[in-house]
Amino acid sequence: MIEERIKELTQQIVQRFKDSGYDVNAKEVEKRLKLLILEFKVPESEAKRTITNYLLKELDIPRESLITESELVKVADITKPNQWVSLKVKVVQLWDSNSPSISQVGLVGDETGTIKFVIWAKADKDPVEEGKCYLFKNVVTDSFAGRMQINVNKNSEISEIDEEITLPPREIEVVGALISIQQNSGLIRRCKTCNRVMSKGVCPIHGKVEGYDDLRIKGVIDDGENVYEVVLNEQNIKNLTGIGLKEAKEIAEEFLDRTAVLAELKKRLLGKYFKLVGDRGERYLIVKNIEFLRIDVKKEVEKLINSLEA
Ligand SMILES: [Zn+2]
Repeated sequence: MIEERIKELTQQIVQRFKDSGYDVNAKEVEKRLKLLILEFKVPESEAKRTITNYLLKELDIPRESLITESELVKVADITKPNQWVSLKVKVVQLWDSNSPSISQVGLVGDETGTIKFVIWAKADKDPVEEGKCYLFKNVVTDSFAGRMQINVNKNSEISEIDEEITLPPREIEVVGALISIQQNSGLIRRCKTCNRVMSKGVCPIHGKVEGYDDLRIKGVIDDGENVYEVVLNEQNIKNLTGIGLKEAKEIAEEFLDRTAVLAELKKRLLGKYFKLVGDRGERYLIVKNIEFLRIDVKKEVEKLINSLEA
């Protein structure tokens, strides 16, 4: 048993140096671990530290070039910034990135919750895919605008894992009023390469490129207790208003102005009440189904009378 544990510890030390770009002799590490743990009864963590220090000195490696060893944690354990951690997660959503320094941004999660992740372009990693599970090794926790996130840098490793990770339910139902529609809603243009929203014919990553039209609404729903930032796609909008992409283009052509679509959508939807079901992301509620709230007046009056009589 202890022999196995020593092999495990040996592997951890060797791997840590390897991840930092140094090869160390596994036999030598194992021999020293045995000596410290079995002969001198030194606790595991101290034995590891002692050997790591010995190797740093022996190989003349500056301490800061050795990557910090990170513990395997759960999403819910992440509460402090600037910690090196590893975690097994599923990629829940990939988001649009507006910054060329970011390669990918989105949401990952495990059975304890979800967290935003950022993969820096400099990290030079293969892209991750939605719905797949990965081991994110040696990532750094960070806090941005009061929320925790994890950052993937060049010392991090991402490897796909053959495990199914089940997330807590994210679907919620909200009944409330649409109190705001953002300016970047309506008939928008997306980059053909990366699907990011373009501004004045320019993709934030690919510059001046050809795009394609899309229809969406970014807005705010207020249910009287909370506000939800929601994203409605073309299908949602078409179901509500009858205005799909084709109709939106016709409006834009008729008025010779793409923003006419936004004005029309605002006129029809702003201030109205809706019942919707969506997936809760870190920031946005991605709407799956949305309908106008129809209040059954007769039923409401009956309820009111009953409550007065009671
Ligand atoms: Zn692009």
